[in-house]
Amino acid sequence: MKKNETEQIRIGSRVFAKYLHRDTIKARIQELGRDISMDYQDKFPVFIVVLNGAFMFAADLVRATAMECQLEFVKLASYEDVRSTGTIKKIIGIPIPLEGRHVIIVEDIVDTGRTMDSMIKELKTMDPASVSVATLLYKPDCLQVAIESTYVGFEIPDAFVIGYGLDLDGKARNLPDIYQLAFEDDGTVEG
Ligand code: 5GP
Repeated sequence: MKKNETEQIRIGSRVFAKYLHRDTIKARIQELGRDISMDYQDKFPVFIVVLNGAFMFAADLVRATAMECQLEFVKLASYEDVRSTGTIKKIIGIPIPLEGRHVIIVEDIVDTGRTMDSMIKELKTMDPASVSVATLLYKPDCLQVAIESTYVGFEIPDAFVIGYGLDLDGKARNLPDIYQLAFEDDGTVEG
């Protein structure tokens, strides 16, 4: 992974351009945190964080909220390289009883909506009082399954993004800003 002064990141043959600066992300998360705090005052919600991609968003989001809450983590994967594999693999399950609880799923990005759709369905079998989704990013043009994303950080176009927790084959999660795929080595423009 190489960085140059034009704010581009190269991973292999792919070149990514800076898309969302850390200050923009931080400001929006503060707003989401305020909204969640108002909506869940005295409800002791449980945030279910979808690892790995949502770890950075979740850390900032929960610190932007003011109410008492609980944090749990699950691990799923539906992507390899820059294309969806179409299969959703649950690696770590839901660790606590959710009956009567207000659940907020924390996700990095909603693309086709399939991951969230299957997760919401599974959670609802556990009789929670409510289920909502807080996603940092949402690609409305890619949605194949309608889901209720109650808290959306940014609606973005259909282009692969990395950074701020989001990876490309395990790389780039540590970048503090979000980058969008600009072009491949051969100059093909994507997105
Ligand atoms: P969905 O099931 O909505 O199609 O995909 C959701 C998952 O796909 C996300 O949690 C994320 O892991 C992955 N994903 C979708 N779009 C992107 C993207 O642009 N960049 C990265 N790094 N992952 C993505």
